Amino acid sequence: MKSAAFEYTRAASIGEACELLTRHGDGAKLLAGGQSLVPMMAMRLLRPAWLIDINEIAALKFVAAEKDAVRIGSCTRQAVVERDSALAVRAPLLRQALAWVGHAQTRNRGTIGGSLAHADPSAELPLVAQVLGARMLLRSSKGKRTLDAASFFTGAMSTAIRADECLEEIEWPVWRKSRTGSAFTELCIRHGDFAVVAAAAQIALDDAGRCVRAAFGLAAVGQTPLAFPELAAGLVGAFLTEDLVRAAANDAADACEPGSDLHASAEYRRHLAGVLGARALHAAHEKAKAA
Ligand SMILES: Cc1cc2nc3c(=O)[nH]c(=O)nc-3n(C[C@H](O)[C@H](O)[C@H](O)COP(=O)(O)OP(=O)(O)OC[C@H]3O[C@@H](n4cnc5c(N)ncnc54)[C@H](O)[C@@H]3O)c2cc1C
Repeated sequence: MKSAAFEYTRAASIGEACELLTRHGDGAKLLAGGQSLVPMMAMRLLRPAWLIDINEIAALKFVAAEKDAVRIGSCTRQAVVERDSALAVRAPLLRQALAWVGHAQTRNRGTIGGSLAHADPSAELPLVAQVLGARMLLRSSKGKRTLDAASFFTGAMSTAIRADECLEEIEWPVWRKSRTGSAFTELCIRHGDFAVVAAAAQIALDDAGRCVRAAFGLAAVGQTPLAFPELAAGLVGAFLTEDLVRAAANDAADACEPGSDLHASAEYRRHLAGVLGARALHAAHEKAKAA
């Protein structure tokens, strides 16, 4: 199918993108990698009157290492982040998750910010944002504001980004404990498809092997990706056993509200949530032990 007619314009700076958003209001959409927006327009699920192309804005493309975080410009290509070996050491979940995002071709165009703004409940990067507690910097002509992932994702394919706002950068917390391990896993019908269910986990251990920090979450089992900070906190202070890990994952699965579709029933998704949650926690723990 072909998209409905639209006007196209290219912004040279973040300020200009914000001005154009203010001028064109609800009828405008920012165009980043186009890997979700263009198919949705072609299927006429979206009919923006204006596309504001942000691909030429150099200030939206960067990876910056800070002491306790990594900042990534929203229009940074997924492939650039995936190939960044220094980043993979500091925030390994990003590379682990990106291996599951679409295909090399889509990652060459798709951006980090585009994936978060699109907010598909089964997408990998929004799950990592929830698990790590990423912070999103939003800019409009009126100023800036920062939202954490928990308040950024508001529902299936919906975020707290206002019609006049551009997602400028994302700050990903870095765990500085030397014995930290992380893991991402999912079940999908074919490699490159969206997840039927996905799970991510990160564990830090002290020298004795006791868990000192834990985070984990699930995608495709609710309207937004889910993190389970209270269940993760329950693992802190313990020597993690298979039983402890499985119990945390099963409690998380019980707390989910998955839906049914042609790929999987709600019941099967809940089962997968427990299995994949435990698998991600176990793999993260093994990596932390080996670190
Ligand atoms: C064959 C195929 C397979 C795929 N498989 C997967 C998969 O397995 N997992 C997965 O997560 N994704 C998958 N995708 C989607 C892909 O990863 C997209 O890159 C991503 O969802 C959107 O990023 P984008 O840069 O292409 O954004 P675009 O498509 O350009 O934009 C998406 C939405 O975000 C908005 N937006 C973009 N940038 C900003 C910004 N800076 N501020 C505010 N709003 C913004 C746009 O206006 C639009 O509404 C797949 C895509 C294809 C074509």
